[in-house]
Amino acid sequence: MRYISTRGKTRPVTFSEAMAIGLAPDGGLFLPETLPDIAPHLPEWENLSYTDLTFAFFRLFATDMNEAVLRSVIQKSYGKFDHEKIVPLRCLEENLYILELFHGPTLAFKDIALQLLGNLYEEQIRASGKVLNILAATSGDTGAAAIHGLLGKKGVNIFILYPEGRISSLQERQMTCTGAENVFPLAIEGSFDDAQKILKEIFEDESFKQDLGLSAVNSINLARVIAQCVYYLYAWFQLPVEKRDRVEFVVPTGNFGNVLAGWLTQKMGLPVTGFKAATNQNDILHRLFSSGRYEIGELQPSCAPSMDIQVASNFERFIYYAENGDTGEVRRIMEEFKTTGLHVFKDFKRHNFSSSRATDGEIQDIIGRVYRDYGYLVDPHTACAFKEIDEGKTSILLATAHPAKFPETIRAATGIESQSDSLEKLKAMKIVKYPISADKVDIQNFIRHHAIAQLDLIGENP
Ligand SMILES: *Cc1c(COP(=O)(O)O)cnc(C)c1O
Repeated sequence: MRYISTRGKTRPVTFSEAMAIGLAPDGGLFLPETLPDIAPHLPEWENLSYTDLTFAFFRLFATDMNEAVLRSVIQKSYGKFDHEKIVPLRCLEENLYILELFHGPTLAFKDIALQLLGNLYEEQIRASGKVLNILAATSGDTGAAAIHGLLGKKGVNIFILYPEGRISSLQERQMTCTGAENVFPLAIEGSFDDAQKILKEIFEDESFKQDLGLSAVNSINLARVIAQCVYYLYAWFQLPVEKRDRVEFVVPTGNFGNVLAGWLTQKMGLPVTGFKAATNQNDILHRLFSSGRYEIGELQPSCAPSMDIQVASNFERFIYYAENGDTGEVRRIMEEFKTTGLHVFKDFKRHNFSSSRATDGEIQDIIGRVYRDYGYLVDPHTACAFKEIDEGKTSILLATAHPAKFPETIRAATGIESQSDSLEKLKAMKIVKYPISADKVDIQNFIRHHAIAQLDLIGENP
């Protein structure tokens, strides 16, 4: 299996290359050259455990990897989840299900892909002898999940920029109370936008990047998308047979990463009805699926902050398929969107997507109502999925974070103190962080000083 860029100006690469490169050199995103047909495999996958299913699915994509290595990497990745099923499916009522994706170490769905990506990176480092320094900026969940994916791994140091005082104290603890020597949380004096701006400037400094072997973790990595496909399959197998072909997945989304993975499994042959992109008040995707206009709006901070996004970075993969693989057209649309902030799709087809939008007020109401009706607490992101449920279908709503990650919102909506054991443990641990000015040179100096050097690993790993 080879991987091509949505913009068509990159030579096809292997799975391992696509994973290591992240963003294609032509600015596009990697996709399989052809999507495999999974329909013939479904009977044999029926009773597999989550890790065995992940292995069976990845074998179709990671064709350049040794199978024994792949199997052990997957096994290790889901060992830290606190539920034996990894992603349990709960039935709230006839035809209404919740897929809990928050049983990983940072209690949000990003763990499912980033635990695996961290172990794949580690394997790549071991095989190549090349060390990695990872730099990312975060407003919360991604940074925590990335850190926990790479925690204590040999041959990789991780630097995360975050705005001091502007993320929740729980999110800060998840990044700073790790006890790991390869993690450097940099608390910058400034906003998230400042952090992102510096990140971008540092990545534009080619010689710095080359010298340090600097790499990014971001939501467009192909391996993340493939890892996220697996839970759609797994959930589908948990349903009674008669419900399977009329199921709609309802997915809280901002960057279009999670829901895209589900939609790809349908394109590969999983017989389901469709997908709903459930947005918060930052509703670029809801406006798109309602009107065919893809248009940037003003960012409005919400109580579901991990979906506070204006440009859905994975959406280009949808455009590629919507334009029937015409990479010239993808380039033209992305260029137009970049310069004008707008693209209007002619004869827009929704391709089995529907959408919804929930304001902060609606999110609060939903959290209260779901608790009253089902005795079940949902976090503010998951709440968006409850906005408009289609009674005629079987719905699987994806729960993307544990409610205990957002205690203030839960308390305001229900009066309940939501807790989780792993977050309680964090409160007893020491915070290790590095306050720093929002200055490119200061940050580069810090990274240079604390980066892992090529020699370190080669010395240890003859
Ligand atoms: C990142 C995140 C989302 C949005 O993920 P997408 O990739 O945009 O679909 C939703 N909920 C939570 C809790 C998240 O951390």
